Amino acid sequence: MAVETLYDKDGSINALKGKTVAVIGYGSQGHAHAQNLRDSGVKVIVANRPDSPNGRLAAEHGFKPMEVADAIKQLNSGDMFIMTLPDEAQPEVYEKSIKPHLKPGMVFGATHGFNIHFKTIVPPKDIDVVMVAPKGPGHTVRSEFERGGGVPCLMCIHQDASGKARDIALAWAIGVGGGRSGILTCSFKDECETDLFGEQAVLCGGLSQLIKSAYEVLIEAGYPPEMAYFEVCHELKLIINLIERGGLSYMRYSISNTAEFGDYHTGPKIITPETKKVMKQVLADIQTGTFAKTFRGDYANGFKWFKEQREKDKNHGVEVVGKKLRRMMPWLKPVEETAPGKWELATSRA
Ligand code: NDP
Ligand code: MG
Repeated sequence: MAVETLYDKDGSINALKGKTVAVIGYGSQGHAHAQNLRDSGVKVIVANRPDSPNGRLAAEHGFKPMEVADAIKQLNSGDMFIMTLPDEAQPEVYEKSIKPHLKPGMVFGATHGFNIHFKTIVPPKDIDVVMVAPKGPGHTVRSEFERGGGVPCLMCIHQDASGKARDIALAWAIGVGGGRSGILTCSFKDECETDLFGEQAVLCGGLSQLIKSAYEVLIEAGYPPEMAYFEVCHELKLIINLIERGGLSYMRYSISNTAEFGDYHTGPKIITPETKKVMKQVLADIQTGTFAKTFRGDYANGFKWFKEQREKDKNHGVEVVGKKLRRMMPWLKPVEETAPGKWELATSRA
């Protein structure tokens, strides 16, 4: 499907004026959608547990966090709810607190295609189902909007029961700031499958494994952990900044000839045709729903495997030495986990 790029001029926030938008969850994405839409003149209500850190933040921001079911009950035909709960939690909350209160003509707004595409949520045919997925973390969606800009968004229509789904999705994307930089249209399938592939093959899976393996090689060869950390982890940021600004070419322009020569010479030995074959299999597992099934299966099992991996990697050498070295570099604004899920600025030096 060809991608179309839309801007503020191509739609209007008016498609959401006079309507109520319920933002379900006040986490990374939720807080940004709720506040940006409200600042764009849309009536926004928020559902979140009132007694959690995110619930308290919503109250600080002037919302009155309520139960999910109570928020949905307030909506009428033409109103929208935006689903910003973690993907794994969405199906249960949908079945229990949303589905019983749906009215024909309501709009289901997703920020990622996972549950709709893999049919772990199947909304009735008489509501609209659309997605606006900002291509950036929620906190950037908010901070860029406040600066007068916006993070580019993907916009997709899954179901158009009202005949107005596109106007509404576009108004939403414009309301969160996407129209200031560009709104790209695509399908739920494309958004969902490319997003999962990117995070598994490169951004999260590929990168973490590359860092850990290279670190282990240097340690096993007898080099000091501090050196290993700087060379295979810390300096990544510098390289990524160059790629982000001017692509691989600008990165290669900026690094030494020795480094660039080594790039062409060694890169293909690390990521081999065999690795590419594995990447194709990874994509196939995403497309067939095999990955989604594995993810849902572990969630049903209390995320047992998931939590074991998390604990194991927390104690990897690169994490241990990294923590010590980052304390020597306060300009990085290093953060550390002080309680489960609580990250605070690391203040003391090792
Ligand atoms: P977060 O983990 O940041 O926030 C989740 C919110 O949901 C919190 O407010 C939390 O409330 C609440 N919550 C969690 N579990 C439950 C539950 N069982 N019942 C009720 N409320 C619950 O989520 P994200 O913003 O990262 O992700 C939301 C969606 O956005 C996902 O679909 C994700 O794929 C998508 N997305 C995320 C991006 C990102 O930048 N993180 C980027 C693009 C899309 P409490 O504080 O009470 O625990
Ligand atoms: Mg992603």
